[in-house]
Amino acid sequence: MNVAELPPLFAPLPQRINRLYELAYNLWWSWQPEAQALYQTIDATLWERTGHNPVKFLREVSLASLEQKALDSNYLAQYDRVTIKFDHYMRDDQTWFARTHPELKDQTIAYFSAEFGIHESLPIYSGGLGILSGDHCKEASDIGLPFVGVGFLYPQGYFRQFINSEGTQEALYERLNFAELPALAVRNSDGSELRVSVDLPGRMVFVKVWRFQVGRITLLLMDTDVDENRPEDRELSARLYGGDQWLRVAQEIILGIAGVRVLRALNINPTVWHMNEGHSAFLGLELLRERVQRGENLEHAVSEVRKRSVFTTHTPVPAGNDAFPLDLIDQFFHNYWPQLGIDRDTFMNIALQQQSWGPTFSMTVLALRLSEYHNGVSELHGAVARQMWQFLYPGKSVDEVPIGHVTNGVHSDTWLAPAMANMYDSVLGAGWRERMDDPATWDRITTMPDEVLWGVHSGQKHDLARFIRERAWQRQRRLGYHRDDAISGDVNPNALLIGFARRFATYKRATLIFRDLDRIKRILNNAERPVQIIFAGKSHPADEPGKSFIRAVYNMARDPELRGKIFFIEEYDINVGRHLVQSVDVWLNNPRRPLEASGTSGEKAGMNGVPNLSVLDGWWREAYNGKNGWAIGREAGYDDLEQQDIDDAESLYSLLENEVIPSFYDRDANGLPHKWIATMKESIRTVAPQFSFRRMLKDYVAQYYVPGMQAE
Ligand SMILES: *Cc1c(COP(=O)(O)O)cnc(C)c1O
Repeated sequence: MNVAELPPLFAPLPQRINRLYELAYNLWWSWQPEAQALYQTIDATLWERTGHNPVKFLREVSLASLEQKALDSNYLAQYDRVTIKFDHYMRDDQTWFARTHPELKDQTIAYFSAEFGIHESLPIYSGGLGILSGDHCKEASDIGLPFVGVGFLYPQGYFRQFINSEGTQEALYERLNFAELPALAVRNSDGSELRVSVDLPGRMVFVKVWRFQVGRITLLLMDTDVDENRPEDRELSARLYGGDQWLRVAQEIILGIAGVRVLRALNINPTVWHMNEGHSAFLGLELLRERVQRGENLEHAVSEVRKRSVFTTHTPVPAGNDAFPLDLIDQFFHNYWPQLGIDRDTFMNIALQQQSWGPTFSMTVLALRLSEYHNGVSELHGAVARQMWQFLYPGKSVDEVPIGHVTNGVHSDTWLAPAMANMYDSVLGAGWRERMDDPATWDRITTMPDEVLWGVHSGQKHDLARFIRERAWQRQRRLGYHRDDAISGDVNPNALLIGFARRFATYKRATLIFRDLDRIKRILNNAERPVQIIFAGKSHPADEPGKSFIRAVYNMARDPELRGKIFFIEEYDINVGRHLVQSVDVWLNNPRRPLEASGTSGEKAGMNGVPNLSVLDGWWREAYNGKNGWAIGREAGYDDLEQQDIDDAESLYSLLENEVIPSFYDRDANGLPHKWIATMKESIRTVAPQFSFRRMLKDYVAQYYVPGMQAE
């Protein structure tokens, strides 16, 4: 952002390091550990206390410690390195997109999502969908895509999670102080704050817009907490996925319809519109309304809108596909369909889906109807989606249903441990980042000396043990010391550490490993071959079955025969996720196939040399090659879910007993597990290129964005 736009700090920074403030206002730092270190090394305690938020940090740090750093030559050298790198990044006009598609660089792709997971200090994400959106922004910046993100800045975000001493999840909503975020209110040319409005039943609602800079791209986030709104409407955007269906429709109208109006007000006229999940599908209606109001007939408008729209569906789980009762849609849209020149039935028919409880207005159907390009997020999910939505394409066989797939990836610089990335610099050559999606780049990983890789990984495990101990202390300070408390902090960095962290949705079956208690107790209580399991994850506050899974894991950790073997880390977020995927030995994922559309946490682990032990669902079905990890269960379809649990649990136990644990503990005279390390290397070699966001975004560009941009 332009320095002149930033709000003044209470006290100016020392001249020599005054760009720390400007750097804080570009989320580029969120994937640059060296840039974060510029703040952290000034005052590590304050850095923790401010939740790794550089804007907040600079508002609270003492001038004395800044002045000291401004005289420290080591610090200044690091500062200069980071600012030079930042300037180079921001000024580069030879990005991949500019070189590959110079004729398209002045167009814009608008990307709409209900959640964006960019950094732990911006808690406006709930899980994998949000992380994916955040990674999408970062990679779009890296490859120089002309791109703008649109979403919500929820004042209370998603909740912070605490587990009480009964194992019950408690949700704490904290109000974000927007003055402490790297955000600027968007203004009109006369200096007043921009407002756009939408109609909700019986009133108009006004929306304020916040601008975030994510490297080279802009993210525009909306907020209804403004004076012009009624008190209850100020709360519309308060929380991510809070409230009832009425609120959900209201939020989705703001996301889709006000989102389009925000772009128009800023004179941003995208040529491609990407709906990330059905939440934003009302945007298609608004694009139709604009055209009809300009005099186009509806049929023509639909075909024009479709050619430029992309829709990604993310889940086969019914609750993940919004569908609203028609009377609810009536309340919100009875003044809207006349503006499209159509009657109620025609309007409802655009998105009609018959459910067992009656007709509904389905956001997925709406998005499919109003976009030309649609995809699932892995090969298997694409096939499942074609089956699910076949009813919309009468006369077409399942294979002909026009839903393709692009398998999800992860933004490598965000998820790689800095120590691992440094090692890749030395083994692969410094230019590996430019070629990270090329499998050939990673072939040299096999030349890395085993003891070097093992040494770096062991360092990660020690860091993780420290992190978990610190979290356990924090919990004890909060709750007082309970002898019974399950959340022990004694991770053994020499043990085989199994990681399991993700949303606690029931289909992810967090408790599967406890199905045969005697067996898992035998596995975990072998004193010669210690094994520990570290869990983390949140359930949606209204998901009682999900919360009962958390309680079950907590009670396992409290079982006298499992104490100190099972850990549960509270407050799962990007920070906890990063520590785990970078540092455990093996990443466990056992969803009920085929419900894990892609999964991405295992990709983060795999590229850090943490092999996967997973069901052949989503991305892992494409990645598994027999040498880079382990496959739980079979590629079978089950009607009997109980049988599926039995088979998968049996497979999981037998893999642990016969393959994973023996391989980990098969050591040479120096204590090195060469066979295990070979699996680690094979994991890096196969996962890092293919499941990078670079590969994924280039797929979107080639399959959807460029054809959309070139639509006549
Ligand atoms: C990567 C990530 C997820 C997604 O995990 P899955 O195993 O793919 O469900 C969820 N939450 C956070 C914080 C993550 O970093």
